[in-house]
Amino acid sequence: MVSKISKIVSEYDKRKIRIATIGSHSALTIFKGAKEEGLETVCICTPGQEKLYQRYKLADKIIFVDRLADILKNDVQDELRELNSIIIPHGTFNAYIDQREMEEKLMVPIHGNRTLMRWETSRELQRRWLKNAGLKVPRVYNSYKDIDGLVFVKFPGARGGKGYFIVDSVQAYHKKMHDMIKRGLVTKEDAKKPYIQEYIFGVNVYPHYYYSALSREVELMGVDKRYESSVDGISRIPVPEQLEQKVNPSFTIVGNFPMTVRESLLPDLYDLGEKIVRESKRIAEPGVLGAFCVETIVNENLELVAFEISARIVAGCNTEMGSSPYTYLAYKEPMYTGKRIAREIKNAIRQRKLDLVVT
Ligand code: AMP
Repeated sequence: MVSKISKIVSEYDKRKIRIATIGSHSALTIFKGAKEEGLETVCICTPGQEKLYQRYKLADKIIFVDRLADILKNDVQDELRELNSIIIPHGTFNAYIDQREMEEKLMVPIHGNRTLMRWETSRELQRRWLKNAGLKVPRVYNSYKDIDGLVFVKFPGARGGKGYFIVDSVQAYHKKMHDMIKRGLVTKEDAKKPYIQEYIFGVNVYPHYYYSALSREVELMGVDKRYESSVDGISRIPVPEQLEQKVNPSFTIVGNFPMTVRESLLPDLYDLGEKIVRESKRIAEPGVLGAFCVETIVNENLELVAFEISARIVAGCNTEMGSSPYTYLAYKEPMYTGKRIAREIKNAIRQRKLDLVVT
């Protein structure tokens, strides 16, 4: 696979490399960064999705598909290769395209590691990655029958927190599961595969990193926290009414806030990013390529507990379009993940090392 992609990329016209991605999730920062670096963009989308990117004049070429998984069809792949496209994967790729198929059948270079993107879609593999990297992770319960404290119940796939719930006993588990199914937030199929994790008390801190295969350095691009419906609205309702309404919040992501962390936490964030990169090389050579993000909760002892990893750009990177405090410190110019990606590809072209930054 790697050699096939190396061959494809070696045949590309290096003066006309284009940045391609699906028109959703974090495409705004990806396309904006590409344009700022002087690269053309290719927006793959279903009819209607293109309008947002046209509004901001970010889509130079548009490839329409009936379903996003059609990106794997031969004619779409041919067109992408003819356009000398390098695909930047984001969360929509995980959600709508089978990762095993993407790993094996997508014969278009990706700025990212396909194997790690597949690992990301399995909670068990993610956990193994984080744990073997030497990070603190939440306990996982094998059965709901073992619930002996506050737990977080999640379901398969990247679903933006939809239908997740918190319970503290087996009895409450049955009750809330029933309620979530009734509200249409959890399917009966999902209910058979709950992922039950220890609830970590603390605050969410989601660092975004960029790992350059050219400089072999981990960069901290920014940090965000999320705004989730309905859990973040609950504090606006007085407790007696919450109890009366039997509020059972969900965690559907609506947006993200940019964040700066207390300065003494920064060395820990760098350490976490470096450990993840080190472990990623043991899992699948060449390891992480480009953007990645870790979801952590920082507890009151200022310990970072890592509960999810994304082997690609995350939507929170849209908070730092233009700049973030950490890229402001590190660069002499405005920098953000979308632009950093395009810069890496341009550097790789200049150094004749494009095959090092794609799989
Ligand atoms: P996720 O889809 O896994 O990112 O989870 C959605 C949201 O649930 C996160 O943004 C956190 O606010 C919260 N969360 C997830 N796992 C835990 C956990 N183990 N303990 C506490 N909060 C969690």
